[in-house]
Amino acid sequence: MQDTSLSLPVLPSSDWPEFKPGWVWLVGAGPGDPGLLTLHALNALRHADVIVYDALVQKVILDWARPEAEIVYAGKRGGKPSANQKDISLQLVDFARAGKRVLRLKGGDPFVFGRGGEEGQTLVQHDIPIRIIPGISAGIGGLAYAGIPVTHRDVNQSVTFVTGHDQSGDTPSSLDWAAISKGSQVLVIYMGMKHLDRIRDALLAAGRDKDEPVAIVSNATTPEQRVLETTLSTCVENAKAEGFGPPAIICVGRATMMRQALDWQAIARGEAPRNTDPLGRGRPAEDR
Ligand code: SAH
Repeated sequence: MQDTSLSLPVLPSSDWPEFKPGWVWLVGAGPGDPGLLTLHALNALRHADVIVYDALVQKVILDWARPEAEIVYAGKRGGKPSANQKDISLQLVDFARAGKRVLRLKGGDPFVFGRGGEEGQTLVQHDIPIRIIPGISAGIGGLAYAGIPVTHRDVNQSVTFVTGHDQSGDTPSSLDWAAISKGSQVLVIYMGMKHLDRIRDALLAAGRDKDEPVAIVSNATTPEQRVLETTLSTCVENAKAEGFGPPAIICVGRATMMRQALDWQAIARGEAPRNTDPLGRGRPAEDR
């Protein structure tokens, strides 16, 4: 029997928001590790009548739902990016109109390359009240689990989140890769594995260094997490040779080198850091 009675911590000034019947909460489940759920997400799981979840949501998280909750899978099939999106949104409308507390659970953050914006818009257009609960996005939390800080004062003052797919499933034609290449020291690419060769070509053509470090983190924050450290010119061959596929985050830029110092999972296993000063700054980090 699951224990759904565990209480949430007391909030200082207000109560936990009440999940009212007829509402849809669009909730981020984080990148995988159940410990990365927010307390608001846990509260939502404890009260939802219906949970509509995506492929990237780790199943153990659903164990925290009420035993009587209806669990509906809304994953995409065959990698078709726009399959059934309309149906999913309208299904949420139907559940809400039936007076259910509807939890729409999405991987990472619902508003980061997750179509949470579109779903929320449809719900609002149908007069369904919504609440948004952000989650830890894979492009930040997933990289952190690989020991890669998306910003570091010695590396970058900007970071750009990019999708490798557009609505047609192609590399986004509206993206100005040349401008992105010049304008952002670190690129974090979601959904980039399918077209990694085209992305590499676009970045090289835009003048990024062929030896620029690249990291690919697949199944980040899950027990299946794998990390490939490679370079821009060799990433496609290396990823293929090592069997890397989606879901994966690709990080382009010197931020990836910080993993030599900050691979905390390796350190936890008893390995020494490979290099505590990967950028060769020579001074202790706190002196800068
Ligand atoms: N809303 C999600 C992103 C959805 S798009 C978020 O904020 O994280 C789906 C893409 O997210 C995948 O193709 C992959 O690039 C990335 N992704 C999601 N979870 C991941 C994980 N555990 N490990 C690596 N990449 C992940």
